[in-house]
Amino acid sequence: MKKIVILGSTGSIGVNALSVIKEFQEKFRVVGLSGFSNLSLLSKQIAEFKPEFVALPNLKDAAALKNKFKKTIFFSGTDNLVKLTETADYDILVAAVVGAVGLPPVISGLKRGKRIAIANKEPLVIAGKLLRNLAKTNRAEIIPVDSEHSAVFQCLKNENKQGVENILLTASGGPFFSKKIDFKKVTPEQALAHPNWSMGKKITIDSATMMNKGLEVIEARWLFDIPPENIKVIIHPQSVIHSMVEFKDGSTIAQMGTADMKLPIQYALAFPERLKNSFPKLNLIEREKLTFFKPDMNKFRCLKLAYQAIKTGGLAPAVLNAANEIAVNLFLNKKIGFNQIPDIVENKLNNFKNAANPSLEEIMNTDYKIRFELNNI
Ligand code: NDP
Ligand code: MG
Repeated sequence: MKKIVILGSTGSIGVNALSVIKEFQEKFRVVGLSGFSNLSLLSKQIAEFKPEFVALPNLKDAAALKNKFKKTIFFSGTDNLVKLTETADYDILVAAVVGAVGLPPVISGLKRGKRIAIANKEPLVIAGKLLRNLAKTNRAEIIPVDSEHSAVFQCLKNENKQGVENILLTASGGPFFSKKIDFKKVTPEQALAHPNWSMGKKITIDSATMMNKGLEVIEARWLFDIPPENIKVIIHPQSVIHSMVEFKDGSTIAQMGTADMKLPIQYALAFPERLKNSFPKLNLIEREKLTFFKPDMNKFRCLKLAYQAIKTGGLAPAVLNAANEIAVNLFLNKKIGFNQIPDIVENKLNNFKNAANPSLEEIMNTDYKIRFELNNI
């Protein structure tokens, strides 16, 4: 029986992770959950899964829930997530909050030598090298949950890294891939209508700008230790192939499945086991044809900016990520246009003081500085 802590249990990945755990109650048990604003869902999850520990930032909210669930230990305040990951006795940490806020608890899990099933890509984007080193020194595991990286991880199993030519990350292209549309006029409602995946708001907007794929290029760079020039993006609107690896001998291995995050979550929890589940299966005969296209980096400038950031290195990915997180929020709150998201990111990427091999403190300071500057426009 593996003990699981889920950070961000009230989100899209968190809810899917709980469905996987329900499917395999004899294998996994929830010992910790965390929420943020959705108290009614968190309350239902506590009642159903009976975790020993729950984290949520707001002190009053935590006190109100404590009244209802007397046996549960609640952590609150700014470091509620780290208090949870430092205190709970667990085997696997499902990292599924959104944004760079998830970095400290991931570090805490790695320092304790745990398995991190990581959906929360932003910590890998801003501090991937540090996280990889921490995993190595503490014999911790980082198993990707992001569907593309789970696919690559599966394709690379039993392979020698020297034989890899390119990682081919597939992208649906989001809602605007094939549309002639004026990005100045795009509304949050239009950008939130993803054709294939049902996800949280931030990643859905990132998919529409294709920043999501850019973040995933950086994520892959650190997860698999492959140079960025060998990580290519291919548009594949059907989202059947979740990614591929091209080898030096001309072979290409692809991983396929339904567009359901329960699959990569289950894989990360059960690895190296393959467990039989009751989820809908991929039926290739019933599928329409599979198509592939080259991404248009001029239309989707965020993808180009992400390549620029990883090529620049140092603090550039932290700058890219922080500027993007703020820009996406401003767009969702109708303060800026969709077309201004890459403008804001580009401006910050072209105006910051870099450092080679930055420390965690330098990364956090840069993250804070960019957010401070942008929130004060
Ligand atoms: P959601 O927005 O659906 O969920 C985010 C979770 O984090 C919620 O539990 C939310 O709580 C919590 N949260 C939000 N802000 C904070 C904060 N400041 N402090 C603590 N907790 C917070 O996001 P997703 O589940 O879609 O995505 C989570 C991560 O996984 C992202 O990094 C995303 O890029 C990645 N990912 C997601 C995929 C998907 O299919 N959804 C696919 C691949 C990667 P509450 O809801 O209570 O406010
Ligand atoms: Mg993905």
